[in-house]
Amino acid sequence: MIPPLLPTYNRADIGFVRGEGPYLFDEAGARYLDFGAGIAVNVLGHAHPRLVAALREQAGKLWHTSNLYRVPEQERLGRRLVEHSFADTAFFANSGAEAVECALKMTRRFHYAAGAPQRFRVITFEGAFHGRTLATIAAGGSAKYLEGYGPKMDGFDQVAFGDLDAVRKSTTPATAGILVEPIQGESGIRVPPAGFLKRLREFCDKEGLLLIFDEVQTGMGRTGRLFAYEDEGIAPDIMALAKGLGGGFPIGACLATERAASGMVPGSHGSTFGGNPLACAVGNAVLDIVTAPGFLDRVRSLGGHMQQHLARLKAEHPDVVAEVRGRGLLLGLKLHVPVAEFVAKLRKNGMLAVGSTENVARLVPPLTIDESHLREAMNALSATCISFETEKESV
Ligand code: PLP
Repeated sequence: MIPPLLPTYNRADIGFVRGEGPYLFDEAGARYLDFGAGIAVNVLGHAHPRLVAALREQAGKLWHTSNLYRVPEQERLGRRLVEHSFADTAFFANSGAEAVECALKMTRRFHYAAGAPQRFRVITFEGAFHGRTLATIAAGGSAKYLEGYGPKMDGFDQVAFGDLDAVRKSTTPATAGILVEPIQGESGIRVPPAGFLKRLREFCDKEGLLLIFDEVQTGMGRTGRLFAYEDEGIAPDIMALAKGLGGGFPIGACLATERAASGMVPGSHGSTFGGNPLACAVGNAVLDIVTAPGFLDRVRSLGGHMQQHLARLKAEHPDVVAEVRGRGLLLGLKLHVPVAEFVAKLRKNGMLAVGSTENVARLVPPLTIDESHLREAMNALSATCISFETEKESV
């Protein structure tokens, strides 16, 4: 018999009922150090007093009016994201997939409005993840996510991540843009070769293509910059955001330059809920904190320390940990042992992490952790590595 919840997830048998900072508490009252942060979402941890206050205050005033009218909180968030980024304009959605969808539609419209509707194809990269809608699974190209959902939406050409030559070879007169995660998240915190994103920028400029960054996972301070592109000395034409933007409240955004957005006119795109007052009030509160002086410096410094600790963990447990990956607080441990088992054992040791492909455990804690949480995490990680070693010895 089908359960009341559509069985599309292999859920762990644990239900959380309360959160506080980097901790979650389950139904039995047990405490967990949350280095999964709802898959890189809760950038300010759980129940952050300022986010709770912002949501409460807005909830008492107004929830929803629709985009038929001006939405003051949305205007404020849009203006501030524009001020803090390369972009000139923002569209608000409710999720990462919708933000990417808007980016893809905008790319097609840009060329359409420029009199070149034959340019509609987008180059994407192996290992990419852009969401679960029909367009974004086609963009992501993962056989597992596409299975049974044919026909696959046309318009995507996929090449190896980091391979500029392959990008060149796949570019045709029908190519409209390139969609890339500055660091691939779901496929195991894969950092591209140094200079790759800059060369993509140069290539797009030369060929008249739009460069789209999917910063759904990397954005909002996760890598130690507000947006990961800042570390590359370049900027995209379009950027998708979600996850951290609402600190746990659903919101997505598609940011773009005036030029890239030139095809978007009234009626060309829309969303009933996108940018509603509740989501934008929380988004504004997240932005207040993440852009406060010193906040991102702290993320970079903590990220550096955590990388050092993880490098030591790898040195001490070479049969368990194969590699440390990532930047800022977007980190991954490539493992010699099965990641699902590692994450389950870690949970038994009171800590949460998120598995990903390439047998990588993602460590994506709230950006508000301190050194004591780092030490606690390292103790749980060490204990987990040791339990694998002891098992091996006793076999
Ligand atoms: N893009 C990236 C890079 C992601 O990591 C994700 C989600 O993990 C998405 C898009 C899809 O976001 P959502 O699940 O909010 O639709």
